[in-house]
Amino acid sequence: MAKFTKEDALSYHEGTRPGKIEVIPTKPHSTQLDLSLAYSPGVAEPCLAIEKNPKDVYKYTAKGNLVAVISNGTAVLGLGDIGPEAGKPVMEGKGLLFKIFADIDVFDIEVDTKDVDEFVKIVKGIAPTFGGINLEDIKAPECFEIEDRLKKELKIPVMHDDQHGTAIISAAGLLNAAELQNKKLSDIRLVVNGAGASAVACTRLYISLGVKKENIVMVDSKGVIHESRTDLSAVKKEFVTRKNVHTLKEALVGADMFLGLSVADVLAPGMIMSMAARPIVFAMANPNPEIDYDLAMETRKDLIMATGRSDHPNQVNNVLGFPFIFRGALDVKATAINEAMKIAAVRALAALAKEDVPDMVNIAYGEMNMNFGRDYIIPKPLDPRLLTIVAPAVAKAAMDSGIAHAPITDWEAYKLQLEE
Ligand code: NAP
Ligand code: MG
Repeated sequence: MAKFTKEDALSYHEGTRPGKIEVIPTKPHSTQLDLSLAYSPGVAEPCLAIEKNPKDVYKYTAKGNLVAVISNGTAVLGLGDIGPEAGKPVMEGKGLLFKIFADIDVFDIEVDTKDVDEFVKIVKGIAPTFGGINLEDIKAPECFEIEDRLKKELKIPVMHDDQHGTAIISAAGLLNAAELQNKKLSDIRLVVNGAGASAVACTRLYISLGVKKENIVMVDSKGVIHESRTDLSAVKKEFVTRKNVHTLKEALVGADMFLGLSVADVLAPGMIMSMAARPIVFAMANPNPEIDYDLAMETRKDLIMATGRSDHPNQVNNVLGFPFIFRGALDVKATAINEAMKIAAVRALAALAKEDVPDMVNIAYGEMNMNFGRDYIIPKPLDPRLLTIVAPAVAKAAMDSGIAHAPITDWEAYKLQLEE
């Protein structure tokens, strides 16, 4: 991982102009005529056109390429509930990533409320501005209800990236890890450590990909989410087990996969030793995983491991997903980001990892010869093919599931347009 100091990070953000983003006009603005067109009186024409035909808002305004990154700052990165202002650098950073990876413009919106009703009301109120809504860094369990309600009540794509981004990227890794370890998803015994936003979304997606609910044991800070517990939220109840296991250690005996979305250093080498042959360990607590990468890899030679860190192979990095998922959704004017679109993204990412890696990607990561295998089950963020493979896959899934208002007909032309 690139090395920097605290001062480097602060001066990067301060710079000559504080923050990481600005607004750039996309139309000429140097003459009196330009200004009369951009604002009054010329601007009245598109206003009237949109009044007559509301869909024209996509034709005459920036809406269709504009995503709101919205947070209340209650679960920011690994920093926790630091508040809306303190979360703003993260939301600006997300805007930067949307722009450089998929040319999507972002307004970051920091909302000063922890109340679910009020948050939903505010997002609904500002939704006319945007082509899509990326909910970000909102704590569980509120994030589940907020997303559910906004999805039901809005006709534009809404996605809570901390849930679904993580789920999609890790699911792509799971498909490939399972293939390499010669395991069928329908047979996999899965232990999920953590029962928060990301753990729940990952588990739900793995189930829709074929993992059997009865083969899953989920663990939270109090132990296994067992039928006998009386302290469970509605979401946790979805994952109760009847098995006679109550601790992570007990649950892991004979398990095929450990999925960690919890806290650092809770997975001991002995627990990995007790897992089934050819185990899969996705230890994704950030910044430090549930078990140190090198320690885990030394513990078992037949292990496939992924983490959330860029300094180890198989990083589950959400930037592999959200820019391209929203790109595909916006480009067909999808009314949502549905299950079919998420699964299309999963399969596109998994398939891309099996393709030969272009030289420029090897060079970008200082590698000689990255190849599909235990150290490369997920594509790398700087792979330019992500845009032209994942976005069309998502767009097509939106069309096939009947929620695209502007279907694409010429896919070659679309891919060329993406490459521009
Ligand atoms: P979250 O909603 O706060 O959930 C955290 C969960 O961890 C809670 O369910 C909590 O249990 C559980 N937990 C805490 N200590 C535990 C322990 N000792 N054993 C078992 N479970 C424990 O957080 P999140 O957004 O899902 O994120 C969780 C972790 O995953 C963070 O470290 C985050 O950085 C990381 N993450 C990584 C990626 C990535 O690599 N791409 C993506 C998303 C998240 P209770 O419910 O009992 O409180
Ligand atoms: Mg986040």
